[in-house]
Amino acid sequence: MTSRRRFLVLGLSAVACAAAGGTEGGQAPAAPAKPGFPDLPSDPEKVEKLVKTPEEWRAVLSPEAYHVLREQGTERPFTGAYWNNHADGVYRCAGCGLTLFSSQDKFDSGTGWPSFTRPIKADRIAETRDASLGMVRTEVACARCGGHQGHVFPDGPAPTHLRYCIDSISLVFAPKSS
Ligand code: FE
Repeated sequence: MTSRRRFLVLGLSAVACAAAGGTEGGQAPAAPAKPGFPDLPSDPEKVEKLVKTPEEWRAVLSPEAYHVLREQGTERPFTGAYWNNHADGVYRCAGCGLTLFSSQDKFDSGTGWPSFTRPIKADRIAETRDASLGMVRTEVACARCGGHQGHVFPDGPAPTHLRYCIDSISLVFAPKSS
């Protein structure tokens, strides 16, 4: 990436991802304190709609994870657990455990948020138009539980040229078993 290209990506990201203001207190925990999926009899590969009430989500998510997953919050860059994670494995939704991304598609965007060129399978992510904060973006959410993951931008590297800009706190990393 050229320095100019890098600057553009950083500039876009600062507007696109950080504008929501971050989580309360500014510091994301190393990992979601209470990832919801252990409570669910769910197959991490099965996309079936999961609907819970706000009260039910609050019971299984940390306040920080609830804010991002259920209130479309954004964690502050360089504070999450995974922006600099280079281990092999998969990333699951912190709300329901559905496998969303692979380390094979992760790249260093320089933004401070974990970034991927694509979901592990197209049906794992739901995309919707987000016109909040005075700009139009494409929100990405877990296809099973609707948990907010971040946004996707058309400035990523090959082969897709997409950049899925994801909040660490919306994910739980599962290392590849050796
Ligand atoms: Fe989910």
